[in-house]
Amino acid sequence: MKVRLSLQEVATGVTKKFKVKKDVTCSHCHGSGAEGGSGTETCPTCHGQGVVVKTVRTMLGMMQTQTECPTCHGEGSVIKNKCHECSGSGIVKGEEVVEINIPAGVAEGMVVNVQGKGNAGPRQGTNGNIQVLVEEEPNDTFIRDEQDVIYNLLLDFPTATLGDEIEIPTIEGTKVKIKIEPGTQPGKTLRLRGKGLPAVQGYGTGKGDLVVNVSVYIPTTLSKDEKAMVEKMRGSDNFKGDAETKKSIFERFKNYFN
Ligand SMILES: [Zn+2]
Ligand SMILES: [Zn+2]
Repeated sequence: MKVRLSLQEVATGVTKKFKVKKDVTCSHCHGSGAEGGSGTETCPTCHGQGVVVKTVRTMLGMMQTQTECPTCHGEGSVIKNKCHECSGSGIVKGEEVVEINIPAGVAEGMVVNVQGKGNAGPRQGTNGNIQVLVEEEPNDTFIRDEQDVIYNLLLDFPTATLGDEIEIPTIEGTKVKIKIEPGTQPGKTLRLRGKGLPAVQGYGTGKGDLVVNVSVYIPTTLSKDEKAMVEKMRGSDNFKGDAETKKSIFERFKNYFN
C-alpha cells in the first residue's frame, strides 16, 4: 500500500485508517475450514503420515522416494465436511479497516512494515503483513534536506535594515519567534537547532534543524513620495555596499559552488 504524507505529518508521526481489501478469516467456520464444526479426520491418502512413498524403477533397481501428500499437503488430516463459504480454506475475500501508525521522520521511499495486518492465514494460520510505501506531499513553504528543513524568509527592506523580532512558521504548524539583527544581508542563514525532523527509530538519532534562508524584498512599485525617499538614500554612502559585505558574499558563493 501507499501512503501520502504532508510534511507536518512526517514531523509529528501519524495514525492513518485504511479500508484494506484482503483475505479475511471466514466467519462461517471461524477459519477452521470445516462445515458446522465437523472437524477433521485422518487423511485417507497418507493415513496421517503427511507423506506418500512412491516406488520407482531406476537403473539401480527399485527405489523409494517420499513426497508431500497431495491430498492433505503434509498435514496428515483432512476436513470431514468442507465449509461451503470458503471451500475449506478458512479464508474469504473481504475488507477490513486497519489502523497504521507511521512514525515521525519517515521519508519518501521508506517502507513501514505492519506486522500481522495483512492477509489472514489459511485455516487459522499466521497472518501476513502490510507493507506501506511512504510518499511525501510537495510542500510550498519548506524544503526538506534529510533531517533539516529549509525555510526561505522574505524580509522587507526596512526590517532587514533596522532589525526586528518576527514570527516564522514551523513544520509542526506552530510559529516561532526569531530575532533579525539590524543590517541583515540577503543570503544570511539562521539555524534553529532541533526544529527540524526527528530521525526514524533505528535510522539515526536526534533532530534536524530549521534553516532560515534570508531574502530581502526590493519594492517594484513606488509612489511619488517613496521614489523621492529612495532617491535620497541613493545619495548616502551608507546605502552603498562596503568591502566587507562584498567579500562575505563572494565567500558564500564560493562555498555554494564548491
Ligand atoms: Zn469457512
Ligand atoms: Zn495426506
